[in-house]
Amino acid sequence: MWKEQKWFTVEMIDSNTYAISEYKHWEKVHSYLLIGERYACLIDTGLGIGNIGDVVKSLTNKPVRVITTHFHWDHVGGHKFFNNIYIHQNDSNWMENGLPIPVKDIKQKLMKGLLQDQIPNDFNISNYTIYKGKPNIKLKDDDYIDLGKRVLRIIHTPGHSPGHICIYEEEKGYLFTGDLIYSGTLYAFYPSTNPIHFYDSIVKINSLQKISRLLPGHYNLDIPVKLLEKVKLAFEDIEKRKKLFQGSGTHIYESFKIKL
Ligand SMILES: [Zn+2]
Ligand SMILES: [Zn+2]
Repeated sequence: MWKEQKWFTVEMIDSNTYAISEYKHWEKVHSYLLIGERYACLIDTGLGIGNIGDVVKSLTNKPVRVITTHFHWDHVGGHKFFNNIYIHQNDSNWMENGLPIPVKDIKQKLMKGLLQDQIPNDFNISNYTIYKGKPNIKLKDDDYIDLGKRVLRIIHTPGHSPGHICIYEEEKGYLFTGDLIYSGTLYAFYPSTNPIHFYDSIVKINSLQKISRLLPGHYNLDIPVKLLEKVKLAFEDIEKRKKLFQGSGTHIYESFKIKL
């Protein structure tokens, strides 16, 4: 029996940039495909419920390099469909040796609220595993990746994870922010996070000269660039109140929260 299973939503950001989103899932994860003259790059690969490899193939025939914003399960689910994977050196240990969380907890989060007829036919939760493998390249701060007339700069932005990166395309003014900035609850409360590093990373990306668009890892795709400064002011406020430490709770602001 045929069932509706269009898991991904593809939105065009410009003629060679796409957002590939998973709106059926409560996490509303975004991955991004950037097509250069020689290579394409996929920033994150999503939850691993649908086959993002097929989506990418339908959009480009250029060789694909996957750039991982950070090694959390909700951004690496489709890594298995690709064979050229980049990750920051400080998160590569998790990719090579596994995440320190029980897979049953992840499976629970993965399936939360999903109805049977929303799940693609070829996905079976009992076969779900978290990607493991050696990266092709271990990235560091200020590395440049040239896709052919399209240059990306790696900005190390630890705090949410030790090897979290933002990807900056200066020419277009795009900043792919992963889980550092989005319109939702920003997380720096579990053991491998670091609120002080998070704050430093927010200050670091606020110093970039030209940003025309923020492209986040979750939730609303259309967020104002002003959010960058608002999050910085929020961290300033938290620090002033002497609450910049893990366990200080959820700090609520106008269009986002910060959970420490
Ligand atoms: Zn994350
Ligand atoms: Zn995430």
